[in-house]
Amino acid sequence: MKEIRVGIVSLGCSKTLVDSEVILGKVRGAHFSITQDIGKSDVVLLNTCGFIRDAKQESIDALLKLLELKKKKKLLGVVVVGCLVQRYAEELQKEFPEVDAFLGSGDYMRIAEVLKKVTDGQKFVSVHKAGYLAGADEARVSLTPLHTRYLKISEGCDHACSFCVIPKLRGRYRSRHIADLVREAKQLADEGAKELVVIGQDITRFGWDYAGKSLLPQLLEALETVRDVKWVRLLYTYPSTLTDEIIRAIAKSKQICRYIDLPLQHISDKILKAMRRGSTKKQIVELIRKLRAMIPGVVIRTSFIVGFPGETEEDFEELLAFMRETKFECLGIFRYSQEEGSAAAEFPGQVPEKIKEERYHRAMQLQQEIAREVNRRYLGKELRVLVETQNGKDPGLWTGRSFMDAPEVDGSVLIRTTKEIMAGKFYTVKITDTQDYDLVGEI
Ligand code: SF4
Repeated sequence: MKEIRVGIVSLGCSKTLVDSEVILGKVRGAHFSITQDIGKSDVVLLNTCGFIRDAKQESIDALLKLLELKKKKKLLGVVVVGCLVQRYAEELQKEFPEVDAFLGSGDYMRIAEVLKKVTDGQKFVSVHKAGYLAGADEARVSLTPLHTRYLKISEGCDHACSFCVIPKLRGRYRSRHIADLVREAKQLADEGAKELVVIGQDITRFGWDYAGKSLLPQLLEALETVRDVKWVRLLYTYPSTLTDEIIRAIAKSKQICRYIDLPLQHISDKILKAMRRGSTKKQIVELIRKLRAMIPGVVIRTSFIVGFPGETEEDFEELLAFMRETKFECLGIFRYSQEEGSAAAEFPGQVPEKIKEERYHRAMQLQQEIAREVNRRYLGKELRVLVETQNGKDPGLWTGRSFMDAPEVDGSVLIRTTKEIMAGKFYTVKITDTQDYDLVGEI
């Protein structure tokens, strides 16, 4: 029988990327071969994102390209998986009858069965409970460099932010058990992981669903026992549930990066309330003061939404003033996306796209100035850098990340060297220059 080669296109966030790795683990376990080259695939799996308008569009564009390949008989089958399917299963089936199979965000563990059906020419649809959460026994095929791996500790979300549809796409919050996570962390370390990026929609809630309290401090302590992992990076700590106990656990650890990802979304009390974020401006200001006092040198990343329904010029100015005062080391700005099924989609006072766009650019411009200023603090300092890639055209130029750069989202450290260095290893780099978002240095 001819060997079936399976390729994957994985879109969306790091949590979806972990799902894609688990999917590939099941594909390999079912004796299909995996290819990185979509052009050489027989069947392509498209793992989609359905969070906001831009992400949905990216998923649809990718699907159209794959269907074009199928039409030209370059592909035997196209299987669409994940959040977009969970959200729009019926519409997608009607719109794209050429797709061979649709699997929701909680159904991808059936991938081996689905591939057999698809290669036999059968169609298949399965969209049930949202958000499958894999455990350490389920093999993963790495889609990131082996030195940096994601550790997904939970699935779903119990918060009720009015702009967000994620709880519908991913289900209620469920956390894994500490022993299972430590086992997986050890497996990843054995495969070469030097950096573990701990992810979940909100990692501060870890354990709440079965222990009635946050077990994140205990998990972080348990991860300290994993040999060879030098950095543990924590992504997405919800501000109203980031407790002193968690902050202390971060402060005392030698392994956890002094990097806090704290999505705040806004600062005006009126907008925070409408967003149903559960924090006030006063509480947020106090939390940031505490973080900076308890974790010296901490780098704080946040994200803000501009153009939320009811946001006036005054609210927006308040946000800019807060950015100016706080000087976040890393910051992302998003234009509000009116998502059907979310509470905020029905709110009065929807902001015209033109104004959202204008506010987005003003906030980005301000952050660029702040980022330049923040970067200058590191001039002449030495940073430990995880080296990642060598420039293809200029072999003396390498790129790496320091503790303050999360993969994919933050800046990097550009290293000029004539020494023999290797990707996946740590080096001490002296910062000699700065750019808008990146640092430049030498070994
Ligand atoms: S915390 Fe809020 S924004 Fe984040 S996934 Fe949950 S509901 Fe959405």
